[in-house]
Order: sequence, then structure tokens, then C-alpha cells
Amino acid sequence: MTALTQSQLDQIVQKMEADKQSLLHEIRGELENSGDQQRIELLNHEPGDSGDESMANALADFNVTMLDRQVQGLRDIEAAFRRVKDGEYGVCIDCGEDVGFPRLQAYPTAKRCIVCQEKRERQYVQEGHPTM
Ligand SMILES: [Zn+2]
Repeated sequence: MTALTQSQLDQIVQKMEADKQSLLHEIRGELENSGDQQRIELLNHEPGDSGDESMANALADFNVTMLDRQVQGLRDIEAAFRRVKDGEYGVCIDCGEDVGFPRLQAYPTAKRCIVCQEKRERQYVQEGHPTM
């Protein structure tokens, strides 16, 4: 279980909700610029709770490369919301330790504690992959 208090969790969920809205706003702006009615329709019919995931998937299916960052961000947020629901939010997926509130405040979608994250990034560098 996560060591976050309910009010800390609420605070982060609120922040993610705001981040999500601003990502959707950016996506909408791009789509409106592109003048693609079909995609704009998709955003206008944003499904409720359970449908959010399919929305990111649907957007990804369009393969709008200029929206990659936003779609990825949306996915991360949706995954984080799922972890909140499952009671797994704030727990490092690698070592099972608490990610920690300060880190989650800065990176609400963080899946790993700072130690595991750094370890992972070092591994990527060693394997010759550029870090994100
Ligand atoms: Zn860890």
C-alpha cells in the first residue's frame, strides 16, 4: 500500500486531472489546426471514466506524430489513475518502496522511486539507448 495520506493523494490526483485537461487542450488545438473533423469529433465525444483509455488509444491510432508527446502524457496519466484506483499508486514498480510525496508532486506519473529510476537510466545509457 502507498504511504501517501488521502489529502496528498487528492492533491496529486487534482494535479493530474489539470495536466490531463491541458494535454487535451493542446491536442484539441493541434487537431483544430489540422482541420480534421473526424478527430475533432472524437475529442468532442470524450467518453467517461472507463473510456479514457480508449481515447488515448484512438488518438494514437491516428498516428499524429506531432501529438506524440501529448498522447504519451495522456497515457501516463491514465496509467497513474489506474494505479490510484488499484491502490498501487506511489509504490515503486521495481523495488516496492514508496516513491515519496515530493517526487510524486514533481512527477505525478512517476512509476519508480528515484533510486530505481536512476539505475534504469544508467542501464539505458550503457545499452546504448539515448535517455528520454
Ligand atoms: Zn524503487
